[in-house]
Amino acid sequence: MRPIRPGDRGPAVREIRAVLTGLDLLAAGPSAGDEFDADTERAVRAFQQSRGLSVDGRVGAETWRALDAARWRLGARTLYHAVPEPLTGEDVRSLQERLLEMGYDVGRADAVYGVRTSRAVAQFQREMGLKPDGSCGPQTMGTLRRLGRKVVGGRPQWLRESDAIRQAGPALVGRTVVVDPGHGGTDPGVVVPDGPLRWTEADLVHDLASRLEGRLAAAGVRVQLTRGPTPQSCLPDAERAQLANSLGADVFISLHTDGHANPAAEGVATYHYGTGNGVTSATGERLAGLVQREIVARTGLRDCRTHAKTWELLRLTRMPAVRVEVGYLTSPTDRGRLVDPRFRDRLVEAIVAAVQRMYFPVERDVPTGSIDVSALRAAVAAGRRVGAN
Ligand SMILES: [Zn+2]
Repeated sequence: MRPIRPGDRGPAVREIRAVLTGLDLLAAGPSAGDEFDADTERAVRAFQQSRGLSVDGRVGAETWRALDAARWRLGARTLYHAVPEPLTGEDVRSLQERLLEMGYDVGRADAVYGVRTSRAVAQFQREMGLKPDGSCGPQTMGTLRRLGRKVVGGRPQWLRESDAIRQAGPALVGRTVVVDPGHGGTDPGVVVPDGPLRWTEADLVHDLASRLEGRLAAAGVRVQLTRGPTPQSCLPDAERAQLANSLGADVFISLHTDGHANPAAEGVATYHYGTGNGVTSATGERLAGLVQREIVARTGLRDCRTHAKTWELLRLTRMPAVRVEVGYLTSPTDRGRLVDPRFRDRLVEAIVAAVQRMYFPVERDVPTGSIDVSALRAAVAAGRRVGAN
């Protein structure tokens, strides 16, 4: 097609001017409605620059396509994954940015409605109780709109997380904690096949989980494990998350040990939900920080810090959730500690202290390593509510 250029008139120019006005590149006004005047040329140049097109002030095929994509405002049409020619436009970009803000994985906001965007929309729909068809029509749009801007910086369920914690006050009593020993069944996890101290990750984390269950139960917490010591098969992470959701858990703690080809690798690391580009579960991050600091302070394991991950286990759980890798079974140092039941008790005590601190208001929180877990038990035995004192 012949480029539309300065001096041209007609309906095509009117349309171009309308799009540029919608983008705030051209002042809205009654004059020169269908004339490609100097203001229009300036606006076209600004538009071309903003889209990385060659800046010539004319509307050729490429600029026309970019303008066509730009005129779509989110909500003006139904978006879906079209093959082979995917939908593109500003509305797609806006949708992708909203989903990214809320923690859904669309890759990057490239204005193309591809498979990844469609999957993220389906995920959003599933979590909002809508039909997860991966297309963005009036109903999904309405749900997005109702969520409004309040969800910026966190998924809606994270706001519910911190509300629930605030309302629970400082009491641990009556909370439900789901403890998830990793692996199991046909999947032993990390295996170190040497000597009489042979432990598999699956066995070791189950031992930790049942110790944790005992300690938390003594503090008045309802505890549920995601598996027994010798399950027939290994429950997938998505189902472990689902189980925690269906139990209405207040906190989810997954226990693992790490492994590495290099025996010098050692230490503890804690993971919470987050995308690494600033989107994070605030309560998950706080729990991860508490667990990590208490374990480092009470056990002397090397501090491999906390990290944001989008793993299903962390993404699909609707309560503060962490996964702790409590040392490397492949490290002679860590393994020597982990096979000592007194060390495992200290580990478990650190996790109980961290969970307790989740229920202290931030301003009343206590120094790391200072909670006496046996005092919690005594308080429960004495029949009073466990509070922050
Ligand atoms: Zn593991």
